[in-house]
Amino acid sequence: MTTFSKPMVMTDRQRKFREIYVSGISPFYNGIFHIGIMYGVGSLIVFYCLTQLDNPSWAWLTIIPVAIAGNFVEWTMHKYVMHRLVDVFALRAIYDRHTRQHHQYFTDTDYTIETVKEHRIVFFPLRVLIVLGVFGLLISYCAAKAINTNVGYIVYITMVSHYLIYETFHYCCHIQENWFVRNVPLVNTIRRHHAAHHNLGIMMHKNMNLTFPLADWIMGTSDLKRGLLGTLFNGFNEDHIDPNLLPIISKFREEKVQQNKVTLEGPILTNEEKEILG
Ligand SMILES: [Zn+2]
Ligand SMILES: [Zn+2]
Repeated sequence: MTTFSKPMVMTDRQRKFREIYVSGISPFYNGIFHIGIMYGVGSLIVFYCLTQLDNPSWAWLTIIPVAIAGNFVEWTMHKYVMHRLVDVFALRAIYDRHTRQHHQYFTDTDYTIETVKEHRIVFFPLRVLIVLGVFGLLISYCAAKAINTNVGYIVYITMVSHYLIYETFHYCCHIQENWFVRNVPLVNTIRRHHAAHHNLGIMMHKNMNLTFPLADWIMGTSDLKRGLLGTLFNGFNEDHIDPNLLPIISKFREEKVQQNKVTLEGPILTNEEKEILG
């Protein structure tokens, strides 16, 4: 059983990718400004919506279905957009940024950043916040018209909060080991869950959630073989990793395999490995 993340080990392949990526970041990029705007605007929206509520009572229950639906949207977007090339302008850019860049920059043996400049590779660009914000606004407007204004505002509050939790949890997956990410329940779970997702062998198939691994558990795409509560509160425990995955996981940690069997589009898997991964 492991209760904290292991020391980071970077292969030459990963080191070279990082050097090229970092040297290509614009000198005008500011990592603090990037997340400052994101959290600032996101929090203001949530605050504004809260001030508009008028005795919502049962309307608060709206959070439950919207949060569960959001968990599945997160899973679906990650599995079918971020890891599958859909050759349409914006969707191609998302795939490019995630599979071809984010997954080369981080592996399951070194998934941490050291500088704020590297926020560029962790957080979505601000235009994604704008697109999601407008899309959420449309859904919330429909909910307000169909049910009532309180429900509309609570739908929006839940969607924007989900986005902020997504970014925060993903950030917690990629920062240096510390007390918070090691000990806070759910945060430590997602850190291990996402680090495992960064294994170059299983990255296209397993651990697609970035907040709570609910959809992964229901859809059978978690690398763990555990009950729901055990999966949600697993922390750094590695005792329950599906034993069928272990040979693939360790194979794709090897430098030579990474050089020969991993492309920017993901791993080259054998038929047997594909079958195991489902
Ligand atoms: Zn990541
Ligand atoms: Zn991914």
